[in-house]
Amino acid sequence: MSGQTRSSNGRFAAVFFDLDGTLVSERTGVREARTAVGAKLIELGLYEKPASAFADTVEIVIGGIMEDNDWQWPLWLHAEEWMKRSLAVSGVKVGEDEFRELNRVYRDERSDRAAAIDGWQEVLAAARAHGPIGLITNFNDGAMQREKIRGAGLEGQFDGIYISGEVGVWKPEPGIFEHAAEDLGVAPSDCVHIGNNIQSDVEGAIAAGMQAVLVEEDDRPRPPSLNGDVVWCEDLYGVTNWLQGG
Ligand SMILES: [Mg+2]
Repeated sequence: MSGQTRSSNGRFAAVFFDLDGTLVSERTGVREARTAVGAKLIELGLYEKPASAFADTVEIVIGGIMEDNDWQWPLWLHAEEWMKRSLAVSGVKVGEDEFRELNRVYRDERSDRAAAIDGWQEVLAAARAHGPIGLITNFNDGAMQREKIRGAGLEGQFDGIYISGEVGVWKPEPGIFEHAAEDLGVAPSDCVHIGNNIQSDVEGAIAAGMQAVLVEEDDRPRPPSLNGDVVWCEDLYGVTNWLQGG
């Protein structure tokens, strides 16, 4: 493939990262933020169970959707969607203003509790040695994603932030990778993208002509089509080492 003209330890014109599950934990603060929505429902006099029961319902609702979708998070499943479904399952009816307020509570709590994943300083420093750093993230709500970046202490680390809900193109479509590279003034074939999702991150980056790094703990089987094209690292320290040519 296109990778053959580059050594895997070559220098890149730019380094791109995914956000959720790659640089920011997908677990930290999620349960607390859903519980905070439950607490808000109680405050509004709309819910009689403990606040944590609403978080349980959200988990069940999302779990059912994931199960029907090969355990992949569907693109359409944003906060407003699981909120609406969880309220319906709980038998809670809310007005438009209340619904907006509940979403605001979730967004604020989730953003404030966002935590960067261990090794983020090292990996961003290693990326910086190559060139500009871009963030390419699939998310419908750009404002929330920027708040999450701030909450995790990652503000100011990126030369470009490309959020699918703002760009209008979602990973794995090559368009968002191409747009990001063009915005930073580099050719996609000179770039690497680092992410935790085989479909959106790895297949997308490769389709756009970028080198792809998959960062996830489990060395699970990869689609045969990706053999040889994807660099696998089990954590950000592994990515750092790879970016440094080790
Ligand atoms: Mg991700």
